[in-house]
Amino acid sequence: MIVQNSTATRQAIIEASRESNRNGLNQGTSGNISVRTDEGVVITPTSRAYETMKPEDLALLPLGGAYGAYTGPYKPSSEWRFHSDIYAARSDVNAIVHVHATYATVLSMLRKDIPACHYMIAAFGGPTIRCADYAIFGSKELSDAVVKALEGRLGCIMGTHGMIAVGKTLDHAMWLAVELENLAKQYYLALQIGEPVILADEEIARVDERMKHGYGIWG
Ligand SMILES: [Zn+2]
Repeated sequence: MIVQNSTATRQAIIEASRESNRNGLNQGTSGNISVRTDEGVVITPTSRAYETMKPEDLALLPLGGAYGAYTGPYKPSSEWRFHSDIYAARSDVNAIVHVHATYATVLSMLRKDIPACHYMIAAFGGPTIRCADYAIFGSKELSDAVVKALEGRLGCIMGTHGMIAVGKTLDHAMWLAVELENLAKQYYLALQIGEPVILADEEIARVDERMKHGYGIWG
């Protein structure tokens, strides 16, 4: 289901960006959000305040355009590479949310994968949320590292940086971003008082199977 490069789509990206600041997922303009549309990838521009952002301010990475080509009044987010590369690698992904949410970022500083410490990890497509290797922001190396960490998954954390959630729709990706930060927070807190019990891979597969048939926004 590909959405149109419309004012409504662009407004939804702005609303999601504002929401990510309101709900504490993001601080300032450090995050970025994109949606795959019929005309290419629509992505938040670099270093613009979300509160005053207008639909026409978003950048478009046109379908079939050269790598890094864009249209719009402002440059796309400095992380356009991993947005472009994730869509190229993953036909199942239509929206990407990248934020520096606190607990996910804390775990990324320890370069810790999140294990199956809670059954909700099944929403991400498997029993782990991997931590991608560190590489400097905006680089091809970072893009390669996150595409690898996302293999078969709908989220990853990024070494000493933040996290990415991807989904079939913008609502799905936003929901997963909140869930990823919840999991990171719960795992972090459990580690303060002991060693959490990790659910078996087969149990996570069972949860995924059950949720697919009864949980609205499940992937
Ligand atoms: Zn970032």
